[in-house]
Amino acid sequence: MKCPICKHGETENGYATVVLERNKTTLVFKHVPADICNNCGEEFISESVSIELFSVAKQAVEAGVQVDVREYLAA
Ligand SMILES: [Zn+2]
Repeated sequence: MKCPICKHGETENGYATVVLERNKTTLVFKHVPADICNNCGEEFISESVSIELFSVAKQAVEAGVQVDVREYLAA
């Protein structure tokens, strides 16, 4: 698709590293499937993937995790 941020690039399938911070918890997800703009580098993550990330992040916050690096595994 055409990038909605820079309006010039096209997005391509790839993988992104996503960092989520909540309160004292920092979570890093590697190899998250994303569409990445070939012009500005903006990463677009699908809604189903972001819901998954937020639910994992919520569990980590409740568990008191401070910093964690995880591989994203598609459900
Ligand atoms: Zn762009």
